[in-house]
Amino acid sequence: MEFKDKRVIITGATKGLGKAMAFAFAREGAWVAINYSSDDKSALETESEIKNIAPESLLLKADVSSRTDVEKMISSVLEQWEYVDILVNNAGIIRDKLLMFLNEEDWDRVINVNLKGTYLCSRSIIKTMIGRKSGRIINITSPSALTGRTCQTNYSASKGGIISFTKSLSREMARFGITVNAVCPGIISTPMTEDLDEKTKKEFLNMIPMGRFGDPEDIAGAVLFLASEKSRYITGHVLVVDGGLG
Ligand code: NAD
Repeated sequence: MEFKDKRVIITGATKGLGKAMAFAFAREGAWVAINYSSDDKSALETESEIKNIAPESLLLKADVSSRTDVEKMISSVLEQWEYVDILVNNAGIIRDKLLMFLNEEDWDRVINVNLKGTYLCSRSIIKTMIGRKSGRIINITSPSALTGRTCQTNYSASKGGIISFTKSLSREMARFGITVNAVCPGIISTPMTEDLDEKTKKEFLNMIPMGRFGDPEDIAGAVLFLASEKSRYITGHVLVVDGGLG
C-alpha cells in the first residue's frame, strides 16, 4: 500500500476525476478527505463508498472560491487529522461562451472557482506542510491553457493561471521539501464532458492519436505518481496525460 496512512485532501471529489482520485488513494491505504460544493446526494453516496475502502475519510462541503469556506474546511481537517500530506486542487467548472457574449459573472465565477480556489486551498495548507518539511500539492490544469480553445477565454485563462501559479509556488516550496506540480488531462469521460454535443465529441476523438477519450483512472494514475516518493525530484512540472492529443 503505497499511501498507507497518508492524509489527502481532494477538492471537487464527489464525481468525475476527483472521485476517481479519491478511490485510487483509498485503495492504496490513504486517509481521504473529499470536498464538494453542491449536490449533497451524490456527495453522500460517494462518501459511503469511500468509507468502505479508506481507513479514514471526511466529507467536506465548501465552496473553494470562498475564503471563509476554505479556511473552515482546512481548520476542520487539521483539527481532526493534525496534518495533511497531499492536496489535490481539482475542483473546476466551465461556462463556455464566445467572448462577445461572456458576461462578467461567468468570467468571475470560472476564475474564482478554478484559479482563486487553487490559491485559497494551497495558502491554507502550506504552513502545516512547511512545519513538517514535507508535502505534495497537485493542481489540475487543461489543454485549453496550452493551446487555447474557442468559447473558453475564461476557462483557458484560469487554467493558464494555474500553470503559472504551480511553477511559482514550486520555487517557493522547494527548500521545504514540498513539491508542487500540475496534471493536464486531455479529454476525459466525466460529467463535465458528457454535456458536449455528438459532433464536438467526434471531432475531439479524431484529434486523439490513441483513438479514445481518457478514463478518470488514467488521470488518477498520474496524480498518484506525482503524490508518491517516485516523483520526489519533480517539481514545477506540468504532466500532460492526453493520449497524444498535444
Ligand atoms: P466534474 O464537473 O465532473 O467535477 C467537478 C467537481 O468539482 C465536482 O465534484 C463539483 O462538485 C466540484 N466543484 C465545482 N465547483 C466547486 C466549488 N466552487 N467548490 C468545490 N467544489 C466544486 O469535472 P471533471 O471533469 O471531473 O473535472 C475535474 C477537473 O479536471 C476540473 O478542474 C477540470 O477543469 C479538469 N479537467 C477536466 C477535463 C475533462 O476532460 N474532464 C480535461 C481537462 C481538465
